[in-house]
Amino acid sequence: MRLRNVKGASTLIENCPFLIKDYKEYKGKYKTIFNNDNPIHIEIGMGKGDFIIGMAKKYPEFNFIGIEKFDSVIVRAIEKLDEEIPNLRLIRMDATEIEEVFDKEVDTIYLNFSDPWPKNRHSDRRLTSLKFLKRYDSLFKKEKTIIMKTDNRKLFEFSLIEFNNYNYKFEEISLDLYNDDIKDNVQTEYERRFHELGFPIYKVIVKK
Ligand code: SAM
Repeated sequence: MRLRNVKGASTLIENCPFLIKDYKEYKGKYKTIFNNDNPIHIEIGMGKGDFIIGMAKKYPEFNFIGIEKFDSVIVRAIEKLDEEIPNLRLIRMDATEIEEVFDKEVDTIYLNFSDPWPKNRHSDRRLTSLKFLKRYDSLFKKEKTIIMKTDNRKLFEFSLIEFNNYNYKFEEISLDLYNDDIKDNVQTEYERRFHELGFPIYKVIVKK
């Protein structure tokens, strides 16, 4: 994702009531933010927020937290939040810290169009690398569910191997989401762009 300095980004971020600033303080207590016991779904690398905002509006019976590491990107999601969505919050952080943020309280992790990090020496930075899968373990409340979408065939193949090696079971795989049954699909910004360009979209749901 191309990054630019966005004018006024830090003020918007500072004043956003939906952004959790002291996010490590809520470790193990995220349900207190939502005032309910509904399942918590997180998206890591949410970009400009179309997916997580769409999901929160569509599924008010779940809580959603969007995570993004760059101010210049998360600010674009904040700009879209002109009304309160009670079951949605955002966190600006790098997912390498994720074990310090959640403890046995997450139901589902979404990884949408994650950066592919094509060089082998950077493979640990991929959000589906074994290194990250191990980090996710302590986040989950009970059953672990990860839902991934991407246009990148190599990242998809790598991820399937990592999921398999880490004993995740495949619940659903699509090699061409838009030619399969796509009911209930909520698009991301990257997904819209790549689908319009005619690229197949890959999706996998894994559990353990
Ligand atoms: N999910 C969005 C979509 O599908 O349109 C954005 C996809 S974009 C290619 C990947 C996003 O993940 C970028 O906004 C990037 O800043 C974010 N990201 C990458 N690594 C991250 C990390 N370690 N922690 C948090 N966000 C990350």
